[in-house]
Amino acid sequence: MSQVIVVIGAQWGDEGKGKIVDLLAERFDVVARYQGGHNAGHSVQVGDRSFVLHLLPSGIIHQGKTCVLGNGMVIEPKAFFEEADRLAAQGIVVTPERVLVSSRAHLILPYHRALDHTSEERLGNEKVGTTLRGIGPAYEDKAGRRGIRVADALVPEVLRARIERNLEDANRVIEAYRGQPLKADEVFDQVAPLAERLAPFIADTMHYLNRAATDGRSILIEGAQATLLDVDHGTYPFVTSSSTIAGGASIGTGLAPHRITGVLGIVRTYTTRVGEGPFPTEMLEGEAELGQLIRERGREYGASTGRPRRCGWFDAFATRYAAELNGFNSVALTKLDVLDALDEIKVCTGYKLDGRTLDTFPAVAAELRRIEPIYETLPGWQTSTVGTTDINDLPPSARAYVAFLSRAIGVEIGLISTGPERDQTIIIRDSALGSWLNN
Ligand code: GDP
Repeated sequence: MSQVIVVIGAQWGDEGKGKIVDLLAERFDVVARYQGGHNAGHSVQVGDRSFVLHLLPSGIIHQGKTCVLGNGMVIEPKAFFEEADRLAAQGIVVTPERVLVSSRAHLILPYHRALDHTSEERLGNEKVGTTLRGIGPAYEDKAGRRGIRVADALVPEVLRARIERNLEDANRVIEAYRGQPLKADEVFDQVAPLAERLAPFIADTMHYLNRAATDGRSILIEGAQATLLDVDHGTYPFVTSSSTIAGGASIGTGLAPHRITGVLGIVRTYTTRVGEGPFPTEMLEGEAELGQLIRERGREYGASTGRPRRCGWFDAFATRYAAELNGFNSVALTKLDVLDALDEIKVCTGYKLDGRTLDTFPAVAAELRRIEPIYETLPGWQTSTVGTTDINDLPPSARAYVAFLSRAIGVEIGLISTGPERDQTIIIRDSALGSWLNN
């Protein structure tokens, strides 16, 4: 049976998925994305070269891999070609032979970006902290059944009619917030040539992927954002607009659910969050310096926006929730080396609300803001683990920390990342992840 593995961040994103997906991508025939748009940001380090990907799957860096942008994505055509051009300058050529874009994916149009600004302004103190790239408004149009799909944009009359209709409403909102209204002709003139340029990339990717699986080709499905940002199961309303979890992979690619053979969670040894939402284990007041240390050591600044990330302790309660929701078969634990400097490390093993210990993850964001984390404190190792490739070479306290996390989340750890480079990695051969790497 062909391997179809979904890779998902277990926390609020930026878990270091880029590196792990890149390691796996080498072993798979096809790499697909199923949700989100160019708001994602992976940094992949290959030797002394660094690639930043926003829209294209990480497989693009490897010769001979087919990359799929699935129907669940929202695609900004200009951003697609800008990324393709940037990659071309780094020697990676993005051609229709290697990249397939779903005819059913939705387009992000210039008015979506304008609406993203107004929607954040409208929310005021409750703002989500989006990347302001029009992702949310494009998904709103999709759910509102007025979206423009990639295939629609190839039919000029359809494209023009939909732009005209949608702009009537969009401009009302934009003007109400003192924005600059857009002209239908100008939007059409911007989008139509891009759609034409996109045409050779467009395919029925559902059919392509299911056939690939039938033919025994292996498929890696790459999540963007992360579990706790899922529109249904995340910390609503501080979430992204799509289904980021494993179940979303079937919807967003059209691969039948039973085709998926495994789910890998990417878990970092601590937690970060960008944007405004609740974050129970955030290092605040007394721990702000520690947060800063981790931010610097882990280079925790957004790949898409450059924003500094909020840093916090490992949240095993939230990660256990992610493990249940996604059905992780294995976990890749990243950035162990970032904790090398600490003398003590705290892990949140449970949540208390108003003095009560919770047994399920709270559904209400306001409650999450009031959580008192229950911590266990583990000894640090204060030795460099950078570049370690054998688990037996880790200091005993580091091994104990890893074993503690595995028990606390109830999933095997199949890989430990000890630095940004590909070979700065410990692979546990007899794990599910070890077997996927030997595909
Ligand atoms: P992603 O979107 O989940 O891939 O997260 P980012 O793009 O923010 O990647 C995290 C950053 O951490 C990148 O600069 C990686 O090169 C780097 N990185 C990944 N794994 C490790 C690790 O194990 N140790 C260290 N020190 N850096 C890592």
